[in-house]
Amino acid sequence: MLALTYVKENTFSLMEKPKPVLLDPTDAIVRVTLASICTSDLHIKHGSVPRAVPGITVGHEMVGVVESVGSGVTRVRPGDRVAVNVETFCGTCFFCRHGWVNNCTDPNGGWALGCRINGGQAEYVRVPFADQGLTPIPAEVTDRQALFAGDILATGFWAARIAEIGPEDTVLILGAGPTGLCTLLCVLLRRPAHVIICEKDPLRLRFVREHYPQVTAVPPESVRETVSRLSAHGGADRVLEVAGGEETFQLAWQCARPNAVVTVVALYDRPQTLPLPEMYGKNLTFQTGGVDGCDVAQILSLIAAGELDTTPLITHTYPLRDIMRAYELFEGRKDGVVKVAVDCTPEAAK
Ligand SMILES: [Zn+2]
Ligand SMILES: [Zn+2]
Repeated sequence: MLALTYVKENTFSLMEKPKPVLLDPTDAIVRVTLASICTSDLHIKHGSVPRAVPGITVGHEMVGVVESVGSGVTRVRPGDRVAVNVETFCGTCFFCRHGWVNNCTDPNGGWALGCRINGGQAEYVRVPFADQGLTPIPAEVTDRQALFAGDILATGFWAARIAEIGPEDTVLILGAGPTGLCTLLCVLLRRPAHVIICEKDPLRLRFVREHYPQVTAVPPESVRETVSRLSAHGGADRVLEVAGGEETFQLAWQCARPNAVVTVVALYDRPQTLPLPEMYGKNLTFQTGGVDGCDVAQILSLIAAGELDTTPLITHTYPLRDIMRAYELFEGRKDGVVKVAVDCTPEAAK
């Protein structure tokens, strides 16, 4: 089968590999129908994910059809159409039982697919702990609609959930990249009084204004003024930092009102400064971390109900055989790309 492989720093290669097989009773083999490229894949390519194993197949955002399951798998069956979760988790350890699946203590726990074990920018993928890692897709939801449910949409949903957003809140989101947009959609589900999104890229700002006119989209230069104008208590009630830029962590706490919740979703390249003397008396609550991807079934039912739609984010589609071109486009942020869908069906691999 064709599989996009992390060969070494700065080198990905589309190569022929053997089809994966079941290794553990809790495994499933999934025939991938649609995959996507994530910014984290670029981080692997650039060598900034030290735990990524050279030789692995990359890709951790995909949907497909279950091909076979191990004897211990009870929740999915061959033939089921499924969304694959970015995180591998056992479902039984202390952290999993509390819903903190990002901290699963299994040796394979956390982000393993397409990083430490073979992922899904390929025709087939082996998914460990398939009962936890696979979620059946409702019949009325298409593969394109479900494509982001296990990764960036799960991240946005988790961020909006832990931010504890109420109907009177002014919510500020920093960053309108793919994860920022998914966070925006999940924040909108909670119907706060005002939503402001801050983004420096004019194309991304335009995308928000075209698709989500109810949202105030501003560049960083005017975010402070906009937040103080639209909020009743001198700052945003809830701030979600999804940008991970040089200045965005500082902007996040500075734009927050006293006693606000600041949720940090972004992954930074460098340590950030927490200037406690300057923020003394502001009594902020910080929430940080990586997605607990355990809400995929709820996300898929919201999609089925027509309350969540990420299909406008898919601006380009490529067949698997042309995935290198898809990377070139995504990495170079060419042609107004937001997200790329990669068709992994047998015809697209020929
Ligand atoms: Zn990702
Ligand atoms: Zn666990």
